[in-house]
Amino acid sequence: MGAAGDTENESGAQMVAYPGAQALYVDEQRTFIDALVGLSGDQLSIVIHKTGGTPNLAALASFFQTGAAEASTHFGVDLDGSIGQFVLLKDGAGGNCCLEVGHDTYWDSFSAKYGNLNRCTISIEHIDPSLTNSTTPPQAQLSASFALVKWLVDTYHIPISHIKTHASIDPVSRARCPGNYPMDELLTFLQNGGSMVPANWHDDGTTLTAPNGVAVRLGFRDYVLSHNWDAGNIPLAPEQGVSLLEASNPSLGGGSQQVFRMSMLAYTQARGVFLEWCGVELAFVRGQLATYYPQVKTLQAEVDSLKQQLAQQTGLDPAKVATFQQSIEISLKQAAQAVAQAETLAAQPIS
Ligand SMILES: [Zn+2]
Repeated sequence: MGAAGDTENESGAQMVAYPGAQALYVDEQRTFIDALVGLSGDQLSIVIHKTGGTPNLAALASFFQTGAAEASTHFGVDLDGSIGQFVLLKDGAGGNCCLEVGHDTYWDSFSAKYGNLNRCTISIEHIDPSLTNSTTPPQAQLSASFALVKWLVDTYHIPISHIKTHASIDPVSRARCPGNYPMDELLTFLQNGGSMVPANWHDDGTTLTAPNGVAVRLGFRDYVLSHNWDAGNIPLAPEQGVSLLEASNPSLGGGSQQVFRMSMLAYTQARGVFLEWCGVELAFVRGQLATYYPQVKTLQAEVDSLKQQLAQQTGLDPAKVATFQQSIEISLKQAAQAVAQAETLAAQPIS
């Protein structure tokens, strides 16, 4: 058969190549030839890997194609979202061999039936240049990965419960595979039918709208749609530009901000979209209020008393009065600014 072509067999259509993947096939002799032919549904599992030190897809392909260990996976997903296919889906790849002590007992029945787990698994590598698999997966890589897994699940009718980590097979030697890959987000994505739109929210492809009617757009929308967002964490108000994102961290400067019931998203050109430390900010703002509110009250009382005395013309030194008034005005202004700042940051209107 053609190396990269789609194949149909008597038992029904069986795709052997992922549409859009670069053909980076290893010599078929390096695979478990035809091991997956005819397998589908709960006979199959998907195993998620991260490379732990491989810089890109080309380096991974070269390792699989020429390495003495004859290791391989079916797919590799690069940091930029490009996907390479190394092994046809009719063949077993060489990434998930043998169970180690402490493995997930999920694998026991497969091991008993197929011996080598490469005979019943589809495997996906994800490029991570760090040895500890700690590089934060770029959104492009996750989106491509999630879409690939969804295609596999749909094409082969694989239960979501059959998606596992390499560490579930080899918890000792591969404890860090796939490291920080967000398995929970992947499963939520699949459970939502391939969508990260939180329950009862609506997305039209551009604007994400929460059940309270408040819109989330652009980078904040992307963030919500890619971070397993709690459906109850609704935006309290539309996104707005602020001159100071966090009173507790003035070095952040200004940017765009949207406050949600349980969290706060910000955007700056330097950092892109990020989740703000709203607990730290809340504590700081509460501290400011605790400091300034009594001060305002005391000053106000003093001003009132002074006004009364002035009205009664009780022989005060006008110069002293002027100095005192000036100092009070400065203090009041400072306090009012702090309170206004705190109100802007802490008390977004609920609409
Ligand atoms: Zn692995």
